[in-house]
Amino acid sequence: MGDSQSCSRCQGPSTVGFLEDKGERGSINASRVLSWISGAAKTGPLGGAKVLGKERLPVTAYRCEACGHLDLFVH
Ligand SMILES: [Zn+2]
Repeated sequence: MGDSQSCSRCQGPSTVGFLEDKGERGSINASRVLSWISGAAKTGPLGGAKVLGKERLPVTAYRCEACGHLDLFVH
């Protein structure tokens, strides 16, 4: 797939990007690409999602320049 994509809502030109995961507070290199995790979310007693051993894929987000619609893809 290239860097251009048509909006699924209005067929306008969309720009590739990604959703940032800020990660731990105070960490300098904390920014990560938001991940898609397989399976329903199960949270532990501290509110954190249990993701160990689950499939994890980076989320690609296409933003429509015409209407602002966001199309999310996981490859
Ligand atoms: Zn659009």
